[in-house]
Amino acid sequence: MNNHIYDIIIVGGGPAGLTAGLYASRARLSTLLLEKIALGGQVTKSERIENYPGFEDSISGFQLIQNMEKQSRGFGLQVETGTAQYISSVDKHTKLLKTNDRELLCKALIIATGSEPNKLGVEGEDKLLGRGVSYCATCDGAFFRDKEVAVIGGGDAALEEALFLSRLVKKVHIIHRRDQLRAIKILQERAFASKNIEFVWNTVPDKIQGEEAVESLLLKNVKNHNMLSLKVDGVFVYVGLKPNTKWLKNVLSLTEQGFIQTDDNMQTSIPGVFAAGDVRNKLLRQIATAVGDGSTAAFAAEKYINSV
Ligand code: NAP
Repeated sequence: MNNHIYDIIIVGGGPAGLTAGLYASRARLSTLLLEKIALGGQVTKSERIENYPGFEDSISGFQLIQNMEKQSRGFGLQVETGTAQYISSVDKHTKLLKTNDRELLCKALIIATGSEPNKLGVEGEDKLLGRGVSYCATCDGAFFRDKEVAVIGGGDAALEEALFLSRLVKKVHIIHRRDQLRAIKILQERAFASKNIEFVWNTVPDKIQGEEAVESLLLKNVKNHNMLSLKVDGVFVYVGLKPNTKWLKNVLSLTEQGFIQTDDNMQTSIPGVFAAGDVRNKLLRQIATAVGDGSTAAFAAEKYINSV
């Protein structure tokens, strides 16, 4: 184990983690941010963000993350690759973080591991992943130019991605389990106004069918139990997100759904361990709230370090 003790280690490089990194580095705290694969998280899947203030004509998730990274690194944030696996307290002043390839020490820890897409859990979903089944329209939409696709879900993500796909493909079928959408009204208005988006209400996927690639979707009406086969080449799944907290089970206090419980200062059930962004139990999961969490967590971590 390297005996260097960082002031702060941040786990996760989405908007919450990068903002915590910016604030901590600017406060001249030695700060390491660990990211599993690539910076950005769910945000980089958004082709167009129009509800993060300051970008009148919208900005892509990828560009926003690049800007945030550049800004944080400019103040000295150290960014490395690593997968966090376990945390424990060494003593009153020091935390130990075990990753896939090393052990690191810090005075305070900020967890900003975000969330990942839920799976539908139907037959064919895993088998046809990458062969028509996708969780990212921005990444895979171009493969379906002039074809018909299904989008599953009725939340912000489903509608936003359906609108993105509608500019590329022949037709988008939005499959929703109720007859009311969860998504914000402006997205609903745009989807209803789109000429090539059609809604299939009160319906859930039962099976994704195809040999080498997706060929059709078997659907079930939840009201009358009628089955319907819909010919599509792609199935885009947006049925909510689950927090990346499996590694924290029995370590931190989590909600039933696995979100980290914090107080208003982002403090978790372990003093000196903070949480920020989508991984936290809270009302609204947006970039704007993640950025607020990240800055609060860094400030609270600095206060904690000075107090112990
Ligand atoms: P979400 O808001 O939880 O919506 C999930 C949708 O999937 C709901 O319509 C839900 O139906 C449906 N669903 C859930 N489980 C299902 C199942 N097993 N089978 C069929 N349908 C199922 O998730 P999200 O849209 O991914 O958004 C996650 C968070 O990110 C939200 O807080 C959202 O506001 C935020 N977000 C924001 C933006 C933006 O601001 N531009 C963009 C994307 C995401 P019910 O409605 O019946 O529950």
